[in-house]
Amino acid sequence: MDGARSIRKRILIVWIVAALSCVFMFCEYVVYFPVILRCSWPQITEEQDTVRALFLSDPHLLGAIRGHWFDKLRREWQMQRSFQTALSLLRPEMVFILGDVFDEGKWSSTKDWEDDLRRFKLIFHHPSDTELVVLIGNHDIGFHHEMTSYKLERFENVFNVTSAQILTKRGVNFLLVNSVALHGDHCLICQRVEDKLYSIAQQLNCSTQSDAPRQHCKDMQTYPSTAPIILQHYPLFRINDAECTGEDAAPLNERFQLFKERYDVLSQDASKKLLWWFQPRLILSGHTHSGCEVSHENRFLEVSVPSFSWRNRNNPSFILGTFSPSDFALSKCFLPEESNIIAVYCSSMVMIVMITLGYLRLFHGILHAVNSLLGKKKFL
Ligand SMILES: [Zn+2]
Ligand SMILES: [Zn+2]
Repeated sequence: MDGARSIRKRILIVWIVAALSCVFMFCEYVVYFPVILRCSWPQITEEQDTVRALFLSDPHLLGAIRGHWFDKLRREWQMQRSFQTALSLLRPEMVFILGDVFDEGKWSSTKDWEDDLRRFKLIFHHPSDTELVVLIGNHDIGFHHEMTSYKLERFENVFNVTSAQILTKRGVNFLLVNSVALHGDHCLICQRVEDKLYSIAQQLNCSTQSDAPRQHCKDMQTYPSTAPIILQHYPLFRINDAECTGEDAAPLNERFQLFKERYDVLSQDASKKLLWWFQPRLILSGHTHSGCEVSHENRFLEVSVPSFSWRNRNNPSFILGTFSPSDFALSKCFLPEESNIIAVYCSSMVMIVMITLGYLRLFHGILHAVNSLLGKKKFL
């Protein structure tokens, strides 16, 4: 009987370990594949030579001060698996992160910054033929009053970006903007960024002139003659999110709260300037952590890209964009929902416990039957 008991114990342990491992593997690794496999690149009429870009925002990698270690571990693992699975299944040639890469970049020491950076490289590592472009957010360098040249240069040097620049890919102009510096108070950094943006706007304007270039366009840098796509962290000015719809729009109780200029959204002045100077064909921004589509002046489409971190929402997502010099199309790709993962964990645990109890009861039944049989034999 002891031998049977020990075999039973071993079978039980193997079953529990195998069942738990399967559930863990599914929830932490496998699930990302079927979910992201449902996403595909949007189509445009001009099929040849398009640019395929993936946009995500606000990963907020936790720093040394805020957040529990388990929170950090779990969120970063989720983002790493999502990003790596998306790279392997969708193979974008460009990836844009629209700011707030770090949660504590605004106050992190050199040592903490190095550690955050090391984890960033691990989560967002990518093949050399994928171009990763990282934009500046308020959590990376601080809100305007916290922004210093040191923090700005630290970010720009590491990610090889500047506060205002054009990135051209096969005839498509992406305008990268440090929106934290569009405060409009003529501080040194703000003035420098604004001057640079104005000069880029002139260059783009000269590049799109169909008639003979004017005198002031001489010797200017030229770009493909197409309106740019503005990429930045803060959204352009809007009163609130009341017009936003969709499953990842802000919760109803937050949608009607008024946005604060220069804090939640850009100021009206800065927004008008960007639209007037660049006449963009699309604006993509982050910061609100929720999804939204806004039409400015009934002709400039802006898409708010929600946060990529489960810490900020139950249903994170990223945007897939197909671009040609004259056309573009966007689609949204949702990641697994945290509530579904928790439901899978809980229901699996209940099932494992029930099956284990059933097995034990069955074994006890068999043992009891064998015992009674042996008892009868002895009696005979
Ligand atoms: Zn954010
Ligand atoms: Zn932000």
